[in-house]
Amino acid sequence: MSLIGQDPREVVFQRFARHVSSGKARFFKEAGIDFIFGRREGVYVWDLEGNRLINCHCNGGVFNLGHRHPRVVAALRRALEELDIGNHHLVSEHRALLAERLASVCPGDLNRVVFGVGGGEAVDAAIKLARGFTGRPGVISAVGGYHGHTGFALATGDAKYSAPFAPLPPGFIQVPFGDLEALEEVLEKGAGGGTAAVIFETVPATLGIVVPPEDFFAGVRELCDRHGALMIIDEVQTGLGRCGEVWGINTYGVAPDILVTAKGLSGGIYPMSATVYSDRLDGFFQENPFIHVSTFGGAEVGCHVALEVLDILEEEGFLEHVREVAAFFAEGFRELRERHPAVLVETRQRGLMMGLKMANELCGPLMTLAGFRHGILTIYANNDPSVSQVLPPLIIEEEQARSVLESLDAMLAELASNLP
Ligand code: PMP
Repeated sequence: MSLIGQDPREVVFQRFARHVSSGKARFFKEAGIDFIFGRREGVYVWDLEGNRLINCHCNGGVFNLGHRHPRVVAALRRALEELDIGNHHLVSEHRALLAERLASVCPGDLNRVVFGVGGGEAVDAAIKLARGFTGRPGVISAVGGYHGHTGFALATGDAKYSAPFAPLPPGFIQVPFGDLEALEEVLEKGAGGGTAAVIFETVPATLGIVVPPEDFFAGVRELCDRHGALMIIDEVQTGLGRCGEVWGINTYGVAPDILVTAKGLSGGIYPMSATVYSDRLDGFFQENPFIHVSTFGGAEVGCHVALEVLDILEEEGFLEHVREVAAFFAEGFRELRERHPAVLVETRQRGLMMGLKMANELCGPLMTLAGFRHGILTIYANNDPSVSQVLPPLIIEEEQARSVLESLDAMLAELASNLP
């Protein structure tokens, strides 16, 4: 019997509301969103009734390789023949293999890895390392940025996600993203009691796929060096090919001190995250090797899966394909802007990290709803609902990209005719 569709949609909704989240179930019912993931393959997901969407949400990059990539599925099957979670305290053959491989695809001297399960945990590890290494408390992040819902990651984010959980750890300060002067001012003041780290996403997704000026990260690097602060780059969404290079930050020609990756490293199959850091910072963990622990972080079966993900990413032609499809989207976006000037204010893009900025904050949610009728799954940016995020799987073919653009065209036409 298939695992999918064991009960009708209404039963699933009721069970979810009763035992998982009544609030979410009510929200989606009221919004008219009744999509439940059923079958999934490649760029497509189907609901329980068999309606098909192209996944342009991809959980922020979890499905970079599409759903159930055959080589990733085979890697997990292979791993299950011999491995399990392994032991997180002892020396591990498979954690070492994956760490070596991650180091080989990271810029600069980022050769050391702390494994985690999710992105927030990996951001927490990055901030622990920055505070532990520098002995300073201050952490500067972007207004409207997002690094996760765990302890230190939560403290970097906006109050709307953290206010009920006050008091938060002190020392966290936000500056407008892309504004080097504001960053310099805070660093100069030594605000927060001296700055341990500056943390930014390369292209902040939740802020609305905001692509910074070309010289922004070189400026951040220079300011961090001048003030003895570490530069942490969150590549949870922008990494692993999304921006047309292995890491989004590579497209700015800058190497951070600490790089965080998660989502796509799982291949959509087995959770895995990593905090990759410079050899120069290793003194802290050398002296405190047991100070940060994650039982499931770097689970050995997952290491084997992540190695396959990196094999695929590094295969000849993979990143070229991302850049080619990105150019195809860029041309399509230019046409969409011409066709829908009243509603489509701006298109934002770094490789296949893409966003449509529309006339007002009702537009993003309406586009999400329209997507269900027009065959694409797309969500709006939580901290700027006037932006629809468009993050298709990186394996998307030109014909499928054309179909996404046709859907977006029809959705924008509908929106333009009843612009709220
Ligand atoms: N950083 C970024 C940029 C993210 O988008 C997310 C998740 N959306 C996280 C960190 C946190 O990842 P996780 O949900 O796996 O903890």
